[in-house]
Amino acid sequence: MERIRLGNTVFEGRNNAYFLPGDRPTLVDAGVATDSVRRDLREGLAAAGHEVADLEAIVLTHWHADHAGLAAELQAESGAPVYVHADDAGIVAGDPDAIAAERSIRERRFDEWRIPGEPRAEVTDYLDGHDDLRGGRVDVTPVEDGDRIAAGDGELEVVHLPGHAAGLSAFAFDGERGAGREAYVGDVILPKYTPNVGGADLRVDRPLETYLDSLARLADLDFERAWPGHRDPISDPAGRARVIAEHHRERTERVVSVLDEHGPTDAWTVSAHLFGDLSGIHILHGPGEAFAHLDHLVAEGVVSPPDGEGRYELLDADPDFDELVAVPETKR
Ligand SMILES: [Zn+2]
Ligand SMILES: [Zn+2]
Repeated sequence: MERIRLGNTVFEGRNNAYFLPGDRPTLVDAGVATDSVRRDLREGLAAAGHEVADLEAIVLTHWHADHAGLAAELQAESGAPVYVHADDAGIVAGDPDAIAAERSIRERRFDEWRIPGEPRAEVTDYLDGHDDLRGGRVDVTPVEDGDRIAAGDGELEVVHLPGHAAGLSAFAFDGERGAGREAYVGDVILPKYTPNVGGADLRVDRPLETYLDSLARLADLDFERAWPGHRDPISDPAGRARVIAEHHRERTERVVSVLDEHGPTDAWTVSAHLFGDLSGIHILHGPGEAFAHLDHLVAEGVVSPPDGEGRYELLDADPDFDELVAVPETKR
């Protein structure tokens, strides 16, 4: 397997594609549709002695432009099927209904979160201005949890781990060192920083709970190594899942203390207390993250549902945080 580093500077920062040579040359993730990333990808394939036309399968971890953007043109050139989880298939395909549905949820959430006019216009411009990074329409082959895809000289098993995105999936395989399973994990877990939850895919119901369930499942699968969508391989994926869950427990505590200190507060204001001033994509990610935590606290009865002004009120100032945010046990 070859890791191909993509120097994407416009969206979410540098990311990785992975090339699997063999009986069925396969690419995992495709990068944003920009000239420089297009060049990086071609050079990476050339370094492995291949070209785009050789690809027989393209596998995407999720719909975000930094993972799916070039899929359309790679498919046009190679004729390879593009596999992605069914929950993300419509957006990756470029289906106008799926894209319109995502937009309308976005508008509704921005209302609910009480994002003021100016930052709201800024982030809407940002999102619309980056639309072309998503590339053209793709003929998608949808997959589900447990499906197996022939890839390279072996196969990839689809492991649906939603949260950061509705269809986000890892692809598990037998490790090259013959010592247990490894997985391409996209943005399920990342080294150094925690993937955004709540803003990165507005279609996800109960985003924090959904994501925590995925972290628990990932920890339980106890992969030998994980190959993330950004940065370097993760040598203890279960341990990393645990650290990210602990981070969310701390953030939940901070959200409770913001409501305790300031009284009933909307998601935008909670975000300002957590993250300060935001610009660009963070105007989506900040209040999205605040919302994910508030929504979880509402479901657990710690916070009231938002009132007519979008404000959440603290009902229990001293909840059991260990119970609210389960941190997975790890076996090592
Ligand atoms: Zn992502
Ligand atoms: Zn990403």
